[in-house]
Amino acid sequence: MKKITYKDFARLLCDQFPGEDTPEQHLAVVCPSCGTVQSETSFTRAEVDEETIYRVLGFSCIGRYTDAIEAQVGEKTGRGCSYTLGGLFKLHTLVVVKEDGEERPSFEPAAPAQAQELRLLHQRDPDAITIRSRRSPDGRFFFSKA
Ligand SMILES: [Zn+2]
Repeated sequence: MKKITYKDFARLLCDQFPGEDTPEQHLAVVCPSCGTVQSETSFTRAEVDEETIYRVLGFSCIGRYTDAIEAQVGEKTGRGCSYTLGGLFKLHTLVVVKEDGEERPSFEPAAPAQAQELRLLHQRDPDAITIRSRRSPDGRFFFSKA
């Protein structure tokens, strides 16, 4: 289990977009179960409210808020899964230590290339949620092979 300070965690996130003002809504993490890259924008597009996003980003997979909740833990569909660090399966590899010493399990920050790819997709496609999951015109979620 890797343990890092909150400050180092924040630095890893900010390093996803070097040389620019940190686009907070695009800072991305990776679900340890399904490998899906997800950011605040992913959750906003899945119509998760701001307060919930603050609580669950990096802790519960985006799939819990889309139809990917039916995906099994560990299933790599590219659209998310039902995994949460609050559940029975402990798959995470990272613990973030806050200044008061409290330890919080967390999804790992995405690699810069992954975070940038997700942002590009979000900029290109207003219905994109994660790399391969989209919102259809009728408001439902679906898995895009494109
Ligand atoms: Zn997942």
